[in-house]
Amino acid sequence: METVHLKINNIPVEVPKGYTILQAAKEANIEIPTLCYLKDINCIGACRVCMVEAKNRRGLLAACVYPVEEGLEVFTNTPAVIKSRKTTVELLLSTHKKKCLSCVRNNNCELQKLAVELGVDEDRFAGEEPRFEIDNFSPYIVRDNNKCVNCMRCVAACKNVQGISVIGGIDRGFNAHIGSAFDKTLDKAPCVGCGQCVVSCPVGALTEQPEEQKVWDAIADPTKQVLFFTAPSIKATLGEAFDMPIGTNVEGKMAAAIKRLGSNVKAFNMDFTADLTIIEEANELVDRIKNGKTLPMFTSCCPAWVKFVEHYYPEFIPNLSTCKSPQAMFGAVLKGYYCQKNNIDPKDVFVVSVIPCTAKKFEATRPQLRSDENYDDVDVALTTRELARMIKRAGLEFADLPDEDFDAPFNKATGGGVIFGATGGVLEAALRTAARILDGDFKQVDFVEVRGPEAVREVTYEIAGVKITVAVTSGLGNARMLLEKMKRGEANFQMLEVMSCPGGCINGGGQPYRTDAVSNFVDYKALRSKALYDQDKACEFRVCDDSPVIKMIYDEYFEAPGKEKAHHYLHTSYTARDKYYK
Ligand code: SF4
Ligand code: SF4
Ligand code: SF4
Repeated sequence: METVHLKINNIPVEVPKGYTILQAAKEANIEIPTLCYLKDINCIGACRVCMVEAKNRRGLLAACVYPVEEGLEVFTNTPAVIKSRKTTVELLLSTHKKKCLSCVRNNNCELQKLAVELGVDEDRFAGEEPRFEIDNFSPYIVRDNNKCVNCMRCVAACKNVQGISVIGGIDRGFNAHIGSAFDKTLDKAPCVGCGQCVVSCPVGALTEQPEEQKVWDAIADPTKQVLFFTAPSIKATLGEAFDMPIGTNVEGKMAAAIKRLGSNVKAFNMDFTADLTIIEEANELVDRIKNGKTLPMFTSCCPAWVKFVEHYYPEFIPNLSTCKSPQAMFGAVLKGYYCQKNNIDPKDVFVVSVIPCTAKKFEATRPQLRSDENYDDVDVALTTRELARMIKRAGLEFADLPDEDFDAPFNKATGGGVIFGATGGVLEAALRTAARILDGDFKQVDFVEVRGPEAVREVTYEIAGVKITVAVTSGLGNARMLLEKMKRGEANFQMLEVMSCPGGCINGGGQPYRTDAVSNFVDYKALRSKALYDQDKACEFRVCDDSPVIKMIYDEYFEAPGKEKAHHYLHTSYTARDKYYK
């Protein structure tokens, strides 16, 4: 590998050719502040916060895009550099709606952090306060352009990661803002609701549609039972909102915290319905293979992926598994089985799912998912961030809570359910169960070839004489490439797992905000995934079929996979949507 020698603040550094000054500085443990930069996603050198000085170079250089050169001498902290950064931030604040105290990003806002670090005067260039209308119309995301710094990170996430491009820059000068084509509100655009734009935003301009108050109201209502369940990935990320190390598994503390939110609250484990999804989905796959039905079968547990197919590739709707997602299955189980068994009117239970993304907020409102036309099965879907805010508001010292179990009867799950939160996890869990169906004596549990960070993984397994080729991808830009390959007749797999968020739900749009330093220099996806795979390895049962709760629910209620009742409560249908507008 060709390397380059340079000095940063008089410290000699040797780095690979092609590195930027920002990357080289990181190697020397020197942090250069950034704002618009997001590694591999948004490298446009636009905000000018990362400016540095270099010997024998005129003017300042943008460290995030300037490549290192042999013999270069860089200075990251000179008076000229500090003055430039400070002025840049002061200019950004001159037209910013400065409402820190009531802003959801207070204390984790990158602009606020820069302002504090640089000691800026927020009023030095007191300008006109912007008056953009707040886009509050979609069930998943709120956009407040009055707080936008035009860094383009959300636009890049939507275009470069998801390959969708439903948002972009509109207008010029003081009117410059981000929006959808013809300035339509997000609910009118073919947005899939993934929330990757939200986790990319450094400030409070993009947030989830907040729903915590609805949950507080239900908890305050003595006629209601409030039933929470948490998605598989939440246990691997919630701790970050309480300054715990990335990849800490906080399942026990999370269950303890939820139970302490109110005396009418129960905490259930959504890994159980991840198991249930697999039982139904693996049976559906075997049925499709054996009976010559539509293949490849697509997983359907990611609602942003489902909406993507509905908008952009409706011809592939028959490929989507008819299984509801674990969130939707749990809502149906609670308003169906649980209410019947406990003799409760479904109107008296308030079902709250805690989920990794904003897309599941949309999913919760889909009419096709109602198992009874009179009510939604899931009343509110909260992101990990919203749950963290509720725990903080309840005054709970999260890190010091004891580990507790989830509430019975939905407290037990298998490793197959646990790994749903990482890319490849759904497919691996389905393979474990499909192998059982095809060969009762099949012993292999780990299908490690489907795990990992590669954009697309295609693997062929032979189980009981049946060859199964599977493909896994995450990020909708990658999914689009696979679908185009299918259209050209070049794809040869029986099952495809797609998670909209790169790395899977552990990197969902509703997960805790990351600092720039983490986004750009830490493999946080690997750390979060490891927490799930470690738990899977330690589980008493790793194949979804072995779960005692699964056995109980089929014995007492659903009888067998695909039977009439299971079909009514656990399966769904999809709707082709307009490619341009909802
Ligand atoms: S939610 Fe996803 S699809 Fe919609 S604008 Fe954001 S990144 Fe794009
Ligand atoms: S909404 Fe956020 S991410 Fe998008 S341009 Fe504005 S500040 Fe940047
Ligand atoms: S990958 Fe997971 S977190 Fe991302 S949109 Fe899909 S379900 Fe939500």
